[in-house]
Amino acid sequence: MFSRRNFLHTTIASSGTLLLRRSLRRQPTVARMPVVVSTWDFGQKANVKAWEILSKQGRALDAVEEGVKVIEADASNMTVGVGGLPDRDGKVTLDACIMDEYGNAGSVCFLEHISHPISVARMVMERTPHVMLAGEGALDFALSQGFKKENILTKEAKQAWEKWKKSAEYKPIINVENHDTIAMLALDHQGRLAGACTTSGLAYKLHGRVGDSPIIGAGLYVDPDIGGAAATGLGEAVMRTVGSFLVVELMRQGRTPQEACMEAVERIAKREKQPRDMQIGYLALDRNGEVGAYSLQKGFTYALQDEKHSTTVAAHYYLK
Ligand code: ASP
Repeated sequence: MFSRRNFLHTTIASSGTLLLRRSLRRQPTVARMPVVVSTWDFGQKANVKAWEILSKQGRALDAVEEGVKVIEADASNMTVGVGGLPDRDGKVTLDACIMDEYGNAGSVCFLEHISHPISVARMVMERTPHVMLAGEGALDFALSQGFKKENILTKEAKQAWEKWKKSAEYKPIINVENHDTIAMLALDHQGRLAGACTTSGLAYKLHGRVGDSPIIGAGLYVDPDIGGAAATGLGEAVMRTVGSFLVVELMRQGRTPQEACMEAVERIAKREKQPRDMQIGYLALDRNGEVGAYSLQKGFTYALQDEKHSTTVAAHYYLK
């Protein structure tokens, strides 16, 4: 029911959002090229590798693949690649996708035993007529391309799963802690855009669960004429709103990368019944090198590397 109090509350809340939008819009934007951004503080390590390629005039696609591989190989990171936490049956299943400067895409999901799913995704893109391979088919394809079957469940991840089993009653839980993704967007010296996204998904998920990260348009989207966007956080909410595609489409309509990320997060905040139980973070890079990032809750960070900066940034967020 309409009331003056509600009206004032809504007006104040939306003018607050408007002021934030305006102040973010006023931030100076410097056209930059090359540039690479990636999700979370651990993205900085990935950026260092990507920058080795970008700073030598390399291709954005090579930069994002090699960059995220650093995190896939890092056994101390329990949310991506080797060392990732398993599903509730103790199996590590990986999701990854990649897009190049032509809008080509490759993806693998529900992939086991392979330490670099991002490279398999790239081969799906470059060596098959398909976009996505899943499960055993993705594994067979990887083996046919020379990848080796490995045990990627580390002792630490197995111990964490065993501890979880004692009290969890075999029920997957949604919280803001037990998942992350490395997603990376890069623009190279020729203005070529690319993106990559790779994760072990939600810890202790149902066997067979696939998140947003390998879904083109949800976890990652690159439109060479506009820019790219990537997501981290609860994949189900990102998939329900086709989040990364939405961010890129909003940029196409004239929003800055920052405004586009804000609108995509707000849509989830308004639609989800319990937004406080989840985290969502969007990262966007347009074709001029302008960056945007926004999350549902406090805590989302991203790493940025260009000719002048090598830094991590805390994103603005919606739920105060
Ligand atoms: N988006 C990932 C998933 O749902 C997890 C994350 O990025 O936190 O699988």
